[in-house]
Amino acid sequence: MNRRELIKKTALAAGLGIFSSDLVFGQKEPHILSGANSMVAEPQRLELGDLEIFILSDGFLRLSNLNAFSSRADIGVMKNILHDNFRSEDFIDTGMNIPLVRTKDRLVLIDSGMGIFSNEMNGKLLDCLSNAGIKPEQITDIFISHAHIDHIGGLVDKNNNLVFQRAKHHIAQIEFEFWMNAGLEDFKNSDLSKNPKNLLFEIDAAKRILSAIKPNLLYFDYQNSLYEHFTFELVGGHTPGMTFINIRSGDKQFTYIADQAHSDVLLFPYPEWGFFADTDIDLAISSRKKMNKQLSKSRVATIGYHLPYPGIGFIKKEYDRYHWNPLVQFTIGSIHL
Ligand SMILES: [Zn+2]
Repeated sequence: MNRRELIKKTALAAGLGIFSSDLVFGQKEPHILSGANSMVAEPQRLELGDLEIFILSDGFLRLSNLNAFSSRADIGVMKNILHDNFRSEDFIDTGMNIPLVRTKDRLVLIDSGMGIFSNEMNGKLLDCLSNAGIKPEQITDIFISHAHIDHIGGLVDKNNNLVFQRAKHHIAQIEFEFWMNAGLEDFKNSDLSKNPKNLLFEIDAAKRILSAIKPNLLYFDYQNSLYEHFTFELVGGHTPGMTFINIRSGDKQFTYIADQAHSDVLLFPYPEWGFFADTDIDLAISSRKKMNKQLSKSRVATIGYHLPYPGIGFIKKEYDRYHWNPLVQFTIGSIHL
């Protein structure tokens, strides 16, 4: 890495915490790294009616400064929750779960991981895809939940060439237009505004990647289903155009909630804390509360990008708080939803 790249990465880590780890980790590798490929997960295979789904992993991200989680979080309560859940009280790890859906004639990838911004803890998507027996050129569609770099970094290579060259790239129109025109003044209600240098890096990265995918771009249609199996729901707050993706086959369904929860134990019970990377923290808080209510009531299976791998489970209400209930597996191999 040359000096310029190092400065960029370090600046990014300082501001975004979990999005880069050179600074967060220092020179130490986490103890779970035991071999070059040790973090490339074997894809988790699911069957959802007629659909075959793989949950791929890009690796993980680590927030090593609990104070950076959100300016509204109660650190004392946070540490107690981490302790009660047998987690480290010094850092928060988040997963990076990427669903791949095979319909009768489409192969749809949902988000793309850190890609060109990756470090030793992430950037594993292509290896994981290969473990599923699939080549990048076979992907027909990519659904981009939102344009943060841990979701779009895998769309291009270092020369801005598309990684999934034959794929149609789908995103919310409002998301595309927001980032292409974004400036610091658009983040007045975000913790990100506290570190303008890093925020500018994030904005520039989004502009660069969204410009590269523009020739292959389609906008989500929120009124109609796509390819019989997919519907889209605009969810404001984390970013202006963040989109939930509902995947259906017959009476089976699950909902991809993207970045509505960066921790399985913190944000479901305490949505009012928000998250530092929310573009509009108040809107993000109210949309998380709405999600908790809706998905606990409907009992629809959920997959979260940042939840512990493979990130599949249910939101349940206990007394006056909501909690994540991971799917329990009784067999090895495919899960049937
Ligand atoms: Zn994310």
